[in-house]
Amino acid sequence: MLNDFLRLNPEAREKLVKDLEKKGIFDKNVLNALLQVPRELFLDPSLFVRAYDDMALPIEFNQTISQPYTVAFMTQLLELKQGDRVLEIGTGSGYQSMILKLCSAEVFTIERISQLYHKSKSLFEMLNFNIHIELGDGSVGLPEFMPYDAIIVTAGLPSIPNELVKQLKFNGKIVAPVGDLKSQTMTKLIRIDDDKFTITEHSKFRFVPLIGDKGWYIDDQN
Ligand code: SAM
Repeated sequence: MLNDFLRLNPEAREKLVKDLEKKGIFDKNVLNALLQVPRELFLDPSLFVRAYDDMALPIEFNQTISQPYTVAFMTQLLELKQGDRVLEIGTGSGYQSMILKLCSAEVFTIERISQLYHKSKSLFEMLNFNIHIELGDGSVGLPEFMPYDAIIVTAGLPSIPNELVKQLKFNGKIVAPVGDLKSQTMTKLIRIDDDKFTITEHSKFRFVPLIGDKGWYIDDQN
C-alpha cells in the first residue's frame, strides 16, 4: 500500500533529503527512510503544498508533526540497528513512528490524545505497517514491553524521568528535548549499567509539551 503513495511527489522528497544532508544528516538509513515516507499522508489536504517544507506543521488538537530535520536528527542520534526495540513517546501524526520502523526497528509508540491515537492506528493498519500503538501517558514509559534499546520522546519535558531510564537495556539510549516550555535542548542519555549513565547535549529545539505524570501539568482538556 505504501508503494501506491510513493508516487506522491518523489522529486520533492529527494530535494528534502539532499537539503537534510547539507544540514548535517549523514545516516543513510535515516535519509533513505525519509525518502520513502510521503509526508502528505499525515497532513490535512490544505497543507499538502507545504508537505516538504522543512518545518513543523499543525495537526489536530493543537499538536504538530515535527520538522523533517528534527525527525532525522533525533533518529540519527538513536543509532538504530537491525531489530532494535524502540519506544516512541508522543505518536502524534505517526510520521516519526514510520521513520523508526523503516530504520529496521521494532516500534512501540504511545499517544495521550485518543483521537490522534485512533487516527495513527488506522493509518498504520491501512499501510500494513506493523507498529504497536498504545493510548496513555507515556511520561512513565511503557513498562509492559521493556527493555528497550532506544526511547525517543517527541514532546518537550522538564527532565528525563528515572522511570524511562529503568526501561532501557544497558547501552540503550534516550533522545529527548529537555528544558522549559519555551525552549529545549536535545539531550541524549546512554544507560551504562544499573545506576550509571552518560548525558550529551545537542542543539536547541522547540516542542509542544509532554503532558503527564512525569511531564508538565497542563489542563488542555484532551
Ligand atoms: N512524533 C510526532 C509526529 O511525527 O507527528 C510528533 C509529535 S507532537 C510534536 C507531540 C505528541 O506528543 C502530541 O501528539 C501529544 O499529544 C503527545 N503527548 C504529549 N504528552 C504525552 C504523553 N504524556 N504521553 C503520550 N503522548 C504525549
